[in-house]
Amino acid sequence: MNPERYPHLFQPLDLGFTTLPNRLLMGSMHTGLEDRVWNYDKLTAYFVERARGQVGLMVTGGIAPNRRGSLAPLASKLTNRWEVLRHRKLTAAVHEAGGRICMQILHAGRYSYHPFSVAPSTIQAPINPFKPKALSASGVEKQIGDFVRCARLAQRAGYDGVEVMGSEGYFINQFLVPRTNHRSDEWGGSFENRMRVPVEIVKRTREAVGREFIIIYRLSMLDMLADGNSFEEVVRLGKAIEQAGATIINTGIGWHETRIPTIATSVPRAAFTWVTRKMRDEVSIPLVTTNRINMPETAEKVLADGDADMISMARPFLADPDWVVKARTGRVDEINTCIACNQACLDHVFENRKASCLVNPRAGRETELVIAPAAEAKKIAVVGAGPAGLAAATTAAQRGHKVTLFDADERIGGQFNMAKRIPGKEEFVETLRYFNRLIELHGVEVRLGTRVEQDELAAGGFDEIVIATGVLPRDPKIDGQDNPMVLSYLDVLKGDRPVGRRVAVIGAGGIGFDVSEFLLHENVPAEPDPDAVDVKRFFDEWGVDMDFESRGGVEGVKPDRPTPPRKIWMTQRSRGKPGAGLGKTTGWIHRTTLKNHGVEMLSNVSYDRIDDAGLHLVINSKDGSGEKRLLEVDNVVLCTGQVSENALYETLKARGQPVHLIGGAKLAAELDAKRAIDEGTRLAAVL
Ligand code: FAD
Ligand code: NAP
Ligand code: SF4
Repeated sequence: MNPERYPHLFQPLDLGFTTLPNRLLMGSMHTGLEDRVWNYDKLTAYFVERARGQVGLMVTGGIAPNRRGSLAPLASKLTNRWEVLRHRKLTAAVHEAGGRICMQILHAGRYSYHPFSVAPSTIQAPINPFKPKALSASGVEKQIGDFVRCARLAQRAGYDGVEVMGSEGYFINQFLVPRTNHRSDEWGGSFENRMRVPVEIVKRTREAVGREFIIIYRLSMLDMLADGNSFEEVVRLGKAIEQAGATIINTGIGWHETRIPTIATSVPRAAFTWVTRKMRDEVSIPLVTTNRINMPETAEKVLADGDADMISMARPFLADPDWVVKARTGRVDEINTCIACNQACLDHVFENRKASCLVNPRAGRETELVIAPAAEAKKIAVVGAGPAGLAAATTAAQRGHKVTLFDADERIGGQFNMAKRIPGKEEFVETLRYFNRLIELHGVEVRLGTRVEQDELAAGGFDEIVIATGVLPRDPKIDGQDNPMVLSYLDVLKGDRPVGRRVAVIGAGGIGFDVSEFLLHENVPAEPDPDAVDVKRFFDEWGVDMDFESRGGVEGVKPDRPTPPRKIWMTQRSRGKPGAGLGKTTGWIHRTTLKNHGVEMLSNVSYDRIDDAGLHLVINSKDGSGEKRLLEVDNVVLCTGQVSENALYETLKARGQPVHLIGGAKLAAELDAKRAIDEGTRLAAVL
């Protein structure tokens, strides 16, 4: 049915020697599975599931062409024929499943997290404690040779092609800009010299692999660094890469050290496709566009508007391996949408943990977390339709159990109904849409507006009872907190209670940050629309020049930010930077956004009292002294953490009922939706 709805997405792409069935590319993502030989069966299962899901072409996580270029000690590399063997099974299985796969060659240069890194010059990256060694001219030649050897080994391993990673600030990118390339030999100085490394890599690789092997070049099209490449230089490189024999050019946006968000939830959908569009008149090989494209309508529009020939999505295929087949068969409402949170994918990778997905805990765990039909259908009650209860109820029903889901609220979603209202978190509506659809699809009986009690549950004849009743706000016991000007985050985000122009937010955890963000906006809709987020406003606020007349798209560009409607103070008792517990790859975005809008963050405070004058506190110093201060505010908002709501569990357990506890109800500390959904899914997989 739906190839007609998405005519551009499902148009085959003829590469001359092979034809891709559609315009969807699964972009490279490091999963952590590629680093150890004993994980290759898991990695194979992960790719096979996505190949069965009919994505047109997949790219592996980055594999280094030599030890020095590897991301970390003992990270994946492909340098000899023994290492070829582990890839062969993987490529054969992908082909057997009807898929196509390219291997990404990634030399990290000065981003290598080990003391043996090499780079064009001895300039340490701001995000790496290790300083690279500058390569000699023959050293540069050797790195090029290693790229070529790696591509030939990938060909022997059965890959359909390679992607040469030339963006995100890695080795090749480091040659391209004077910021990281201070050389005066034939590999530095003029742009012609600086672009010689990628051009030689592609040229010599093409000579080595022959005509019928895909070479994708990931071109850094918008560095977003003050001394990044100009648009003219990007075009020159693109033309030279085409000339050198690349099959496809993929878009790279930003460097890892760029301090402008590129893929986080707050980046509007398809925000960067204008960059690829600018290149379209300059080269004639297919161009792939990327970053924050997660739904078929968006992807189709990007292609229909002529911004690119192909769409790259990476995280959306972690979230849903069947994305393509669902789009093709008219089941878009069944897509489990990537909400761009980074919590289980990129954050894991940066913490040296294996990647998975917040909304799909099976990602990267395909062989371990199996959702198989139940041996016998049981009658199951799930109390609480937050993320934990939703995951448990829908997984259990999918397995054939008869599930009744209760919630005291009039709608499903629990705290996600507050999270989705935070500007920059509009994507959370998709998770609720997805669970609503699964409820219909698997026949979960839903009883909303029902605060279920122990007697009803005990008398219900349930074989299993799952308690997912979530959390309650923690009582901080601050003197004067019963003053009418004191609100809880629930009053603000659920109750829409009016909030004055001067506000103190007590608590600088995830919710304190989110409430502050919420209060920086006016008239926030109750039902946000992820497609309505304003692209121009995003770039204006972060100081990016969409005409690309400045170097790197940012040099000399002044951010243009509207005056916020409120003055906000955010406080915490702990020392250290507020929001230290926020996501590794997104915490800086939350902190920068609030600071950019004048939010004052106070750490190491003690609360004295709240009265009509405002919040009285003490700012403590390291030497033990303290400075008394009054924040003269109209409202104080309490975001002081949460405690478990587990009374129902305790009483049912005491009555000998078959009861299980998951999500916030089980443990409120450091609870997030990743743990809630994971616990719900895992429990239901074995009930
Ligand atoms: P809850 O979501 O609290 O759901 C519990 C449900 O149980 C509620 O719907 C409640 O009505 C129902 N219930 C309780 N008692 C009964 C009863 N007796 N009978 C019937 N129903 C009952 N997490 C992230 O991972 N990433 C984020 O970016 C993020 N942002 C957030 C932003 C905000 C503003 C908030 C408030 C939370 C955010 N969270 C985020 C946290 C995340 O939403 C929670 O971790 C998650 O919702 C916990 O899921 P849960 O199912 O355990 O509980
Ligand atoms: P939290 O992260 O535990 O933060 C609670 C805040 O309240 C801390 O700043 C804490 O700081 C303060 N606090 C705790 N006890 C207090 C007391 N008695 N008096 C005064 N202040 C007190 O919890 P949260 O912000 O409520 O978030 C709940 C969960 O939702 C978190 O675990 C988080 O993972 C999740 N969440 C995640 C995101 C995200 O973007 N990933 C966003 C929102 C929520 P001090 O103790 O230093 O004062
Ligand atoms: Fe997307 Fe979040 Fe899943 Fe990563 S963890 S794939 S960002 S939904």
